[in-house]
Amino acid sequence: MTGKDILLGAVADDMTGATDLCNTLVAGGMRTVQMIGVPEAGDAVPDADAVVVALKSRNTQPVRAVRNSLDAQEWLKAAGAKQFFFKYCSTFDSTPRGNIGPVADGMLERAKADITIACPAFPTNGRTVFHGHLFVGDVLLSASGMRNHPLTPMRNANLVEVLAEQTPYSVGLVRWETVSQGPAAIREALAQLRRDGVRHAIVDALSDKNLIDIGRAVADFKLVTGGSGVAMGLPDNFRASGALGRKANAARLPRAEGHAAVLAGSCSEATLDQVAHMKADAPAFRVDATQLGGKQDIVANVLAWAKPKLAQQPVLIYASASPAEVAKAQRKHGRDRAGILVERALAKIARGLVKAGVGKMVLAGGETSGAAVKALGVRGLMIGKQIDPGVPWTMSLGASPLHLALKSGNFGAPDFFTKAFTVLD
Ligand code: ADP
Repeated sequence: MTGKDILLGAVADDMTGATDLCNTLVAGGMRTVQMIGVPEAGDAVPDADAVVVALKSRNTQPVRAVRNSLDAQEWLKAAGAKQFFFKYCSTFDSTPRGNIGPVADGMLERAKADITIACPAFPTNGRTVFHGHLFVGDVLLSASGMRNHPLTPMRNANLVEVLAEQTPYSVGLVRWETVSQGPAAIREALAQLRRDGVRHAIVDALSDKNLIDIGRAVADFKLVTGGSGVAMGLPDNFRASGALGRKANAARLPRAEGHAAVLAGSCSEATLDQVAHMKADAPAFRVDATQLGGKQDIVANVLAWAKPKLAQQPVLIYASASPAEVAKAQRKHGRDRAGILVERALAKIARGLVKAGVGKMVLAGGETSGAAVKALGVRGLMIGKQIDPGVPWTMSLGASPLHLALKSGNFGAPDFFTKAFTVLD
């Protein structure tokens, strides 16, 4: 334990959502750590202003989502959190059974509070809420691609109704006409809803200014729920109360040491472009998925290839492949097993690279990153400078820190892999 209390304790229902929230808090001047999974009782409290616990609770059974979220909240409370945040997707991804309502209810009760807000708006990404209806760009949520999402199809854009199906408590609304009048008006509207017995208030927001005003109005709320956007106003509340110092560069990480490598397991278009871009002038090794699981020790081959090159320049190791090549590997191994074989191989390679002196690593692909981070035994990440929107450098907590950039498949410009290492120094 460092002995210093954290200020904001957040629970995010998925990994990339957690990073998104971390980015927002860092931009607001809060030094932020992302913990991977529910921290254990003995886990040291990092020296940070905010901790975001990344769960995988968006699509689990509600009971499990609530249990994990409350365990995380308990740890955050013991770490000193003054305010809690429940982060979900800006498209309010959930089913009538949950998990947004049940988790928010559980966290409210645990925080001994009786009202919270629900505000998924993220205008920069085209998510706005007007009279309780969520828009994605120019269309209602229910007319957007989200209506066909494989796990959480969103067919009703009226968030008051959507949330009301997920909670036994009363759901209310703070309309844009009130929000646009600023923090005092929002605070008064919320106080009235509270007197009326409302437990969840959907709050309209069309702009970043609205979000900042909402953030200001909920300074005294024990629990805030929403997308990362509504967290924009929270750092200033802590600053106003004297708990957080003047806005400084919260993205500063200790200097990165060691060799550099990129490990790509995403087959998304953005990643394929990034692989092609880096391959043009860096040593690159293609892991052939069809050969995995056989007699050849591909991992050993990759490491033997990489070791002599590491001292010279960053190396690229990728399984990323075109849809036709992926289909070939899937025909050979079966769909799920192909993915698992690749993830396992890349995770082992990640471990081997670190042993060989790699200290800066870019991982491309959500599942790929998850598997590698687990294999590396990483429990928490201090958030650093942004490389491209939504993807910051991070540094692992613990005795032998490692600089990691975890890129979800579709993120980043074509030069992301090469640019990443120039951003570091
Ligand atoms: P994204 O963020 O783009 O979704 P992920 O890493 O989450 O990327 O998912 C990509 C999946 O594809 C992983 O399970 C990975 O193991 C698998 N994969 C990567 N390369 C191949 C390949 N050549 N053949 C079959 N599956 C692959």
